[in-house]
Order: sequence, then C-alpha cells, then structure tokens
Amino acid sequence: MSELTGGCQCGAIRYTVKGEPAMASLCECRMCQRSAGAPLLGHAQFSAQNVVWHKQPPKLFRSSSVADRGFCPDCGTPLTYQYLPTGTISITLSSLDDPEAIIPTSHLGAESRPSWLVAAMALPNEPAELDGGGVQSFQFAVPKRS
Ligand SMILES: [Zn+2]
Ligand SMILES: [Zn+2]
Repeated sequence: MSELTGGCQCGAIRYTVKGEPAMASLCECRMCQRSAGAPLLGHAQFSAQNVVWHKQPPKLFRSSSVADRGFCPDCGTPLTYQYLPTGTISITLSSLDDPEAIIPTSHLGAESRPSWLVAAMALPNEPAELDGGGVQSFQFAVPKRS
C-alpha cells in the first residue's frame, strides 16, 4: 500500500493519502477550470477514510448540488473535489509533494478543453527560475517542501 503526502502552498494544510487511487484523471470541465484558474485540473480519487488531514481539513465550497471543493483558506490552493453521493475525495495531483507520484490515465470534460491547449505544449519554453538567481530572483513565502 502506497502512502503519499501533500499540501497547500502556504503549508497550513497537509495531508496523507493511503492506497491506490480508484482513478486519476485530468479534468477540463468549466467547474474545474474555474476552481483552479487553469485550463485543467488533475485529480486522483480515494475513499474518504484513506485521506488524513494533519492540521486542519480544507475549507469547503459547494460548487454544485453533488460536490464540495476543498481549498486552503489562507493561500487558496485547490486541494480536493469531494463527490457527495459516494463520499469519495479526489486529491489535486499538483498538491502532492511529488507531483509525478500519480500518473493520470484519462481526460474528463474534454468538450471544454481550450482550443489552444494541445498546441501550447510546443510553445517556446522559459525556465521558471524557481530556485532564484537570474535577473528576477525571488523567495518563496514559505520554505519549499521536498
Ligand atoms: Zn495554504
Ligand atoms: Zn472537472
């Protein structure tokens, strides 16, 4: 049984997920786009008892009659999609400490995929300089987590 950790950008919310996800997908539906402010949102679905919140659970926003979306009230990081009829909790893939720990196996909501998204992968690439240095060095608000 695998065990993975993750959390929000500011560190106020940390979690551990145990076991294998029932599914892992990239969702391009408009609800996920709005919740993340991004063209897609990756999720991995777990049963609720396999998700442990260490300090506090995320704040919940009822985004529809069947779903809550969890996020950090301090920094806003999207953390969960919680489907109310089954009680499952889907963790956002990029909130995992290792963002490559779970590999998505399907797309959802592709009818809302931005027309430019696939072609965007071939755009010129500039490194984000996440470790500082360069012309515009900066520091994280909180220490980076490995
Ligand atoms: Zn936070
Ligand atoms: Zn979605």
